Amino acid sequence: MTVSPGTQVSSPLARSVNTLWGVGGERTAQLARLNLFTIQDLLLHRPRRYEDRRQFRPIGELQLEEPSTTRGQVVAMGVKRFHRGQKSVFELILSDGSGRLHCRWWNLPYMEKYFQVGDEVVVFGKPLSLKPRTMDHPETEVIDSGEERLIHLNRITPVYPLTEGLPQRWLRSLIWRTLEQYESKIPEPGAPGAPHFAGAAFPTFSNALHMLHFPETFEDIEIARRRLALDELIEMQLQIQRRRANFESHAPALPCGGDNRLIKPFLAGLGFRLTEAQTRVLREIRADMRGKHPMRRLLHGDVGSGKTAVAGCAALMAIESGYSVALMAPTEILAGQHFMNFSKWFGLLGVEVQLQTQNQKEKRAVGGERGNGKGTMYIGTHALIQAAFSPADLGLVIIDEQHKFGVGQREQLVRKGRYPHLLVMTATPIPRTLGLTIYGDLDISVVDAPPPGRGRVKTVVRDVATLPKVWSFVREKLAEGRQAYVVYPRVEDTGQPGVKAVTKEHEKLQELLRPYNVGLLHGRMKAPDKDAVMSGFRANTVQVLLATSLVEVGLDVPNASVMLIENAEQFGLAQLHQLRGRIGRGPQNSYCILISSATTPEARTRLKILEETNDGFRIAEADLKLRGPGEFLGPQQSGLPPFRFADLASDWELVQMARRRAAEILER
Ligand code: ADP
Ligand code: MG
Repeated sequence: MTVSPGTQVSSPLARSVNTLWGVGGERTAQLARLNLFTIQDLLLHRPRRYEDRRQFRPIGELQLEEPSTTRGQVVAMGVKRFHRGQKSVFELILSDGSGRLHCRWWNLPYMEKYFQVGDEVVVFGKPLSLKPRTMDHPETEVIDSGEERLIHLNRITPVYPLTEGLPQRWLRSLIWRTLEQYESKIPEPGAPGAPHFAGAAFPTFSNALHMLHFPETFEDIEIARRRLALDELIEMQLQIQRRRANFESHAPALPCGGDNRLIKPFLAGLGFRLTEAQTRVLREIRADMRGKHPMRRLLHGDVGSGKTAVAGCAALMAIESGYSVALMAPTEILAGQHFMNFSKWFGLLGVEVQLQTQNQKEKRAVGGERGNGKGTMYIGTHALIQAAFSPADLGLVIIDEQHKFGVGQREQLVRKGRYPHLLVMTATPIPRTLGLTIYGDLDISVVDAPPPGRGRVKTVVRDVATLPKVWSFVREKLAEGRQAYVVYPRVEDTGQPGVKAVTKEHEKLQELLRPYNVGLLHGRMKAPDKDAVMSGFRANTVQVLLATSLVEVGLDVPNASVMLIENAEQFGLAQLHQLRGRIGRGPQNSYCILISSATTPEARTRLKILEETNDGFRIAEADLKLRGPGEFLGPQQSGLPPFRFADLASDWELVQMARRRAAEILER
């Protein structure tokens, strides 16, 4: 999916850059390296920063370490060589009457040919000494011909991303000329018509382009960005909503509302009452499954909010209606846990439950007489996507921990049946903007309150030096009968100093915590070994689980009340929050201890966020701001188009506008 305002091929802006005056073969190739192929691409080339060249700071007033723009005339220059000619420094001395500035470039002797004594040069950089005033490797621009001064000087001047051989001034002049030539011919992109939108003042597309490149004020830049970002977001919302509309016109109803005959005894035997939040979500799901089109719903609930029980009820609705259900989980351990729970729950109801994972291809069936309907409950990992799995009566697909799968995988599983209902569940709180973008074609339900009767979770960040104390605290908790997770970042030692690996530390830890049993769990173990350790931990014959972040998803062992994470700075915030979600599931208070050797203040601040809040949404938004959407979602999940102007971490308001606008456009 690519996003750019909906330009028609016939638009003048769709012409190649080589139709512009002064752009030959070599320049065309250089522009192509910046992904600038058409005139529209060129006009949307976003400056990487701006310089205020209306007022230069006099050389005599430059401050130490303060980035500034100044200018002067070249009064002297030359290359000095040393180390037998192997190293060099090119020095340029500028003067503006208030003082002299020494600009130096190390080991770039060819810089000499770009300057001449007497040239007027604009310089951007930060002085690293004041006696004499010196900048190393500043950005420079020689100002020559008089008529171009108005483009490059006396204004807020754009500075563009470049590629080798492409001069800043040349590109700026090209954009200036192209804007002049095309400004009157720039059409409003077909879709947005943004200027009159929602009472907010947006400039026209053409004005926005002008303000982007040659703003009158610094505020102009943000006004332009918002308009151009809105176009991108509308285009994206259109794609999402078209996909959805297309689905609805092709997918016939699949009556899966059920009749309660299995759900009633299921709820009665569950051992707890559903919370209000769970009940509300189930009403939404039931309405969908009875609806005119198959359900496409995201079930969103923080770790431990009880999504599995909701999934169980949804599955029973389909099974009561005579259909089968597939539940896909990202890890074998989690699939195994679901299999255990569903076997226990559904076995009593006479519903068949089957496990299908990479390592467990043979089907294990439970359940007695199949007198209660035809449907089967299939539980598995990625194996469910494979060709061999394709039950004819698939009525509902449930994907747990959806964020661990790619968008493509979700689609593959849905195509198994004709158009089964789809319920995707996630515990990684999705920041609102991302929710409306990647999940824009799904309806959203939220389980927004945890089940009652849970202990509190206290989180602390501690220095490596406190480890001895921490371990004695862990022993105390073990002595009280509780269990603990210990998480290290690596499976095997990679030689990175101070970063712990579970295989290497296992014996040491076992020694340290005797007589308690320490189990080892990581992704490279064989399935039966993993199962053995997990069953031991569930049965409390293993009291401490030493693991990688593999345990981040889904595991539910309520007696565990300590989560100790070493090298915490190696993990993302959302991931740490997930890990913390393994504890606090029982009535006792729980403790999440983050050990960090992080020395940078940023790393500390980041971890502090977890100390301050248990609110997954706040953590996710902070994480998104810190790491950007690509990192936040991980490579496979993102599938996000590269935006030039929109910023999903902060453009919530624009995303909402775009969503409404796209709906209006499609309605017509
Ligand atoms: P998640 O939403 O993270 O998948 P789970 O479905 O694993 O959470 O539920 C966490 C724990 O809460 C489980 O032990 C589950 O049995 C329990 N639970 C779920 N719903 C309720 C409820 N309404 N009342 C009490 N406990 C509940
Ligand atoms: Mg879960």
